[in-house]
Amino acid sequence: MTTLLPDFPTRGSAVPGTVYLVGAGPGDPELLTLRALRIIAEADVLVYDNLVSQPILDQVNPHAERLYAGKERGNHAVPQDDLNLLLVKLARQNKRVVRLKGGDPYTFGRGGEEVETLKENGIPFEVVPGITAAAGVAAFAGIPLTHRNYAQACVFVTGHLKDGSMNLDWPGLARRRQTVIIYMGLHGLSHLCAQLVAHGLPPDWPAAIVQQGTTPEQRTVTGTLATLPALAEAAQLKAPTLIIVGEVVRLKDRLAWFEKG
Ligand code: SAH
Repeated sequence: MTTLLPDFPTRGSAVPGTVYLVGAGPGDPELLTLRALRIIAEADVLVYDNLVSQPILDQVNPHAERLYAGKERGNHAVPQDDLNLLLVKLARQNKRVVRLKGGDPYTFGRGGEEVETLKENGIPFEVVPGITAAAGVAAFAGIPLTHRNYAQACVFVTGHLKDGSMNLDWPGLARRRQTVIIYMGLHGLSHLCAQLVAHGLPPDWPAAIVQQGTTPEQRTVTGTLATLPALAEAAQLKAPTLIIVGEVVRLKDRLAWFEKG
């Protein structure tokens, strides 16, 4: 691939025997980094999960072997331990191995676990950051993560349910002047909203949920902690979805530019 930055000393081509943990961004292929685009075009083998969109898979070397690692809710095609070892095995076959993940590999992506196994086995690796869902959704939904008048802090949490509840620091989350971003939270949305109110946020506190951010299927539902669960249910949203709680949600009416209708 010819370099897009001819005068810039780049990190060079993908090296055989190396594993590249690459962030694919939130969906829109133009949100790939130049590094990601180059590395996926040079891959010998691609290990990808369900969050990676088709237009991005279309950018991968057409001759690369493709291995699907799953990761839909409750359906992990390959258990994480086996996946970590698979990367080691492929690298030892002297391949350019690309582990492609939605968003950013080090944000709720288990990238740290994969790299630990690579390190333990002496496999060279590189991590290519990606635009995490929160950043992509903020930009494309018109909801800034921070704003001088509304939020001086922003927290990212996982809303994954374990035994029907979320093990989160509720007093820390139920604070004013902060934005809370919940990944993997759709199935726990009512629990989440109820807990935030129980820990002190007002029921009319703004909240939004965004489906498939940055893609043509993006849809945003806005409401309050009291109304969002029912509104989201009625809208029959499709995964992946990101939840945003905080006063920055009010800015959407003025700042939205991408979504039609
Ligand atoms: N590493 C990824 C997150 C993986 S966890 C990242 O940095 O973005 C998977 C969760 O990410 C989904 O359940 C959803 O909450 C969120 N997500 C990923 N892509 C998204 C998108 N395009 N729109 C909305 N949410 C998204």
